[in-house]
Amino acid sequence: GQRQLPEATEQSVLDLLKAGDTGPREVLTPAPVLVPALLQFTRLLEGALTADQVLAELKSSGLRGLGGAGFPAWRKWETVRAQPGPRHMVVNIDEGEVGTFKDWQVLTTGAAQVLEGMLIAAHVTGVERIWLYLRDEYHDARVLLQRELDALALALSSLANQHPGFTPPEIELRRGAGAYICGEESALIESVEGKRGLPRLKPPIVAMHGVFGRPTLAHNLETLWWLPEILHKGGEWLAGQGLRGRSGLRRFSVSGRVKKPGVHLAPAGITLRELVDEHAGGMLEGHDLYAYLPGGASGGILPAALADVPLDFDTLVEHGCFIGSMAVVVMSQHDSARDAALNLMQFFEHESCGQCTPCRSGTTKSVQLMQAPVWDSERLGELSQVMRDASICGLGQAAPNPVDSVLRFFAHEVDGTLKAGVTV
Ligand code: SF4
Repeated sequence: GQRQLPEATEQSVLDLLKAGDTGPREVLTPAPVLVPALLQFTRLLEGALTADQVLAELKSSGLRGLGGAGFPAWRKWETVRAQPGPRHMVVNIDEGEVGTFKDWQVLTTGAAQVLEGMLIAAHVTGVERIWLYLRDEYHDARVLLQRELDALALALSSLANQHPGFTPPEIELRRGAGAYICGEESALIESVEGKRGLPRLKPPIVAMHGVFGRPTLAHNLETLWWLPEILHKGGEWLAGQGLRGRSGLRRFSVSGRVKKPGVHLAPAGITLRELVDEHAGGMLEGHDLYAYLPGGASGGILPAALADVPLDFDTLVEHGCFIGSMAVVVMSQHDSARDAALNLMQFFEHESCGQCTPCRSGTTKSVQLMQAPVWDSERLGELSQVMRDASICGLGQAAPNPVDSVLRFFAHEVDGTLKAGVTV
C-alpha cells in the first residue's frame, strides 16, 4: 500500500518555510523577477498577442525542456499544434532525479508563474485538458500549489465571463506514489491513465500519442515558469544570457562539499569551477575538488581535471556525461567515485521498473560486479554496452554512465583494495 505521509496544512508549511527548514533548497541567486499574475495570458486572450507571436518569441528564446532532455520547447509545441484535437497536456512535477531540488524551489516561490506559463502553452497549442503530476513527497508544496490552483480557477471563471469565446482547460492535480520512473514522460502518462508507470516504446512520441492516445504536450514545470518571463522581456533577452556560445539561464541544484549548497541561477555554459567559486561559496574547509556529478544519478561522474568545461546540454557528450536536470554534486578527496557509482547503480536497480531484461538484470549484475574488491572491467563494460543499446527507456540506457565514468576517469579506484580519493 501507499506510504502515509503526515498531512500538511498551509500554516504548518508556512511555518516550515519561515523557520528556514528547507535544507539546501532555500538559496536562489539572483532573486526571480515577479510577473503580474496572468498579465501575459490575458494579452494573449485579448488578441494583444497572437499564438504565432508567442511561438516566434519561444523560438528566438532558445528555451529547452528543463526536466532533463533539453528538447527545444517550440518544436514540441509545433508538433502538438499540428495534430488533430482533442489535445492534452501533462505538467511534470515528479522531480525525482538524484540531487535535483530546483523544481521544489520553483514551485514554492513561483507557482503562480508556472500556472500562467501552463495556460499560455495550453492556449497556443489548443490543449483542452491538463494534468499536473506532483511528486507526493512534496506534500508541503502540494498545499501551496492547491491554493494557487483554487485562485486560478476563480481567475479563469472570471476571464471566461469576460470573454465568451474562451473555454478554460480542465485542470487536475495528480499525486505520484514515489516511483522514480514516473518522471519519465510516457511512464507518467501511464500513471495518469491509472495504470502502472511503465515507460512506453517510442515511437510513437507522446506529442502525437500521449494521454489516452491523444496528442500531448509534456513539460517540466520550470520550462513553463520561463514562458511569462520570455513574453515579458522578449525571447532575445533570454537567448543572450548564456556564456561561451550557450544560451539561457539554468537553475543548478548544487550539493556536496561546498559552502553554499542550494539552487543557483547561472548562465548556461558556466563551468563547474565558476559555479562553485562564484555561486556556491567555494569548497568547504579541508576539502579539495576531486570529482563531480554534473547531472544527477544518470549524468556520469567527471574528474576535477574537467572542472573547466562549459556545463550545458550537449557539451559533456564527448566525456560520456550529460547535464540532465542540472543536479551538480561536488565531491572531495574524502569521497570515492567508485563508491558513488555503486550507490547509484543500487539506486537504478531499485528503481528499474523491471519491464525489460537489459535494465532489470543488467543493473542487478552490475551491482554484484561492483561489490567485488576489484572490478571486472571487461565484464562491466560489456554489460554497459548491452544496457545502453537494448533498454527501452532512459533509465536503463543511462544507468551505466557512472560506472563507465569510473572506468574512464578513475581507473585508480577500480582496485578497491587501494586507497581512493587521490586528487587528479
Ligand atoms: Fe523499465 Fe529499465 Fe526498461 Fe526503462 S529501461 S522500461 S526502467 S526496465
